[in-house]
Amino acid sequence: MKEKLARLPVETHQDEAGNLWSTLKGKSDKALLIGGHMDSVPNGGWLDGCLNVLAGLEVLRRIAAEGTPPVTVRLVDWCDEEGARFGRSLFGSSGFSGSLVADEVRNLVDRDGIKLVDAVKKHRIDLDRATEARREQKNAAAYLELHIEQGPVLETMNLPMGVVLGTFGVERHGITFTGQAAHSGSTPMAHRRDALGGVSRLHLAIREIAVKHGGVCTVGKVTTEPGIVTAVVGKAEMTLDQRHLDANVLANMYRDAKEASEKFAKEEKIDVAWKKIWTIQPFPFHPKLIDLGDEAIKEVCGISHRLPSGPLHDAAEVCRTGIPTVMLFVQSLRGISHNKIEDTKEEHIELSVRALDRLARKTIEWILKEDHESSQIHTNPHE
Ligand SMILES: [Zn+2]
Repeated sequence: MKEKLARLPVETHQDEAGNLWSTLKGKSDKALLIGGHMDSVPNGGWLDGCLNVLAGLEVLRRIAAEGTPPVTVRLVDWCDEEGARFGRSLFGSSGFSGSLVADEVRNLVDRDGIKLVDAVKKHRIDLDRATEARREQKNAAAYLELHIEQGPVLETMNLPMGVVLGTFGVERHGITFTGQAAHSGSTPMAHRRDALGGVSRLHLAIREIAVKHGGVCTVGKVTTEPGIVTAVVGKAEMTLDQRHLDANVLANMYRDAKEASEKFAKEEKIDVAWKKIWTIQPFPFHPKLIDLGDEAIKEVCGISHRLPSGPLHDAAEVCRTGIPTVMLFVQSLRGISHNKIEDTKEEHIELSVRALDRLARKTIEWILKEDHESSQIHTNPHE
């Protein structure tokens, strides 16, 4: 990528969070950002996330070949999106947004016991200065990112591409039901305080709650104590992961699950306690850019689709700063990613690069129009 960048009239530098920026100066300082990440996971596939950055590079090449663009165009390769080594995703983009908290990640260790703070130093990153990468937000007017879907929706619908509405918010909790461990032979059914009863009923209930609200809810882990074949369960723990694109609906899904757990606890004569594991708000993308993305896909593929993103992406961190953001998804074969068999049809890859290019064109026009309108307001303050 650096070799290809060297052949373009761009200025390239690494920011304080390790992100690689390549800037093609335009007539206006207002900047269109196109980005993605080059890193992957161990035994990962070839498209997440190389496709994003290399597609952006192709768009940059096309624009540079046409001479000085009307607005500045910047390609960014986000540093360590996956977080495979230290378990902390979105390192570079959260430095850019300012949401990275150095003290929360400083002492994370990899499998060899090396600390994150020392590992990043080898890549010329001073962790305590990483959020100075916020300076790169200056003049940013829009952010575009292409990505493989990593799920089955587009393939199931037989569609090459879709425009992304935003990234899901997440409520992730641990729930503990406590009853009374007792002998499985000598304890009559009516006398039991079976902690697993709470888990079993709540697991079935959250599936209905998810469908009712149009979100997704998952129980991924259940443990029981004493956990032997001859004892009624005295303590049962479960995890709950709830996701939705709308913050209010997500809050309602959480409330419904909590109320259900309390109802079941009462009926089962057991106790229930909730503990937060992790939460993040939804990041809805920019409505105008979603429309432009939809148009671009229709023009290139003939048909488009609007879908949310389950996984988080660097685009969520950019969206957090208030920069108008949108993503395009291209179909993943078998819906599989983070695996060697991750793949996308070559003709779909070609369509996706063309759609990103078309979206870049449309977005530049939109930035110019917005800029013009705001400068008109500025020059006529008394009207
Ligand atoms: Zn990715």
